[in-house]
Amino acid sequence: MTESVANRSSEYRLSKIVRLFAERAGPSASSDPKSILKKLLSEMKRAVGWRTKTPRLEAAQSARGVLQTHYTIDGDGDGRLEPIGTTFDYGFKLYLNRNAPKTRVRFTQAHEICHTFFYQIVPELKFRPHPEDAQEERLCNFGAAELLMPERSLREDAKPLPRSIDSLFLLADGYCVSIEAMMSRLRSLQLWNCELYFWHYESERDFVLDRVAGSRYLPWKWSDPAVPVRAWRNGRHSGHSYLEHYVDRECKHFKSISFDARREGATLLVLSGVAGSRVPPPLWQVIQDEGATCRAGGPDSG
Ligand SMILES: [Zn+2]
Repeated sequence: MTESVANRSSEYRLSKIVRLFAERAGPSASSDPKSILKKLLSEMKRAVGWRTKTPRLEAAQSARGVLQTHYTIDGDGDGRLEPIGTTFDYGFKLYLNRNAPKTRVRFTQAHEICHTFFYQIVPELKFRPHPEDAQEERLCNFGAAELLMPERSLREDAKPLPRSIDSLFLLADGYCVSIEAMMSRLRSLQLWNCELYFWHYESERDFVLDRVAGSRYLPWKWSDPAVPVRAWRNGRHSGHSYLEHYVDRECKHFKSISFDARREGATLLVLSGVAGSRVPPPLWQVIQDEGATCRAGGPDSG
């Protein structure tokens, strides 16, 4: 092990498989696993003549030894890669979930392509029974995002667009990825410091937060329940408002958001962190329960 890789591994506590991957495939000891994977992927893209924004992934799969693809309806995940033999040269079988949306299937294909590099570079760990390595999984997610939403191209495409739900859909459609995957990529490239909230419609007075892309899930409620109702009835709404949730029985946490909301099926999508010039209404105007003490976050703070 080179000294700098050893230092880095103690600093970031690289898992064994990621450390070996970095040591063996890195152009220099100071390379980090992400840039190594990025380089391997761009070499692969060059080798298969990958030019369009939404290329078919099959050519890349066969270049990486994925020789068979099976669509299944059983199994709990989106897909998995299975080696055909005991070495990289035998190739792989890819299992994909037949019922998953197209964008999810593409992300899974790209993610599994990234795993093939670990089989190739660290075979002694990958070709024997092994638990899933969280760092390898994160790297493969990074690699999938890199493959499907290349940084340079996405930076160019995102630059002229306002931060809005329409722009998010436009970008996601353009790269054939889900809006959640696009949101996460825009955040990781520090292009949009936004959060995407998925509110499930229960009734006009009750919107339940299902999930959030871009920040930790907390059981937020709207401080002013009229805001989501307006968005729901109109199909669109944007402005400033507050979210709140109880920290404990006596203390509420508030969060100021500048948002763009759009109704999609039974979901109210709310993008927060959109640029806004208007000043939000004062918190006291929107607080429903005066009994709780207030701990207000800054604009769009987590
Ligand atoms: Zn994986």
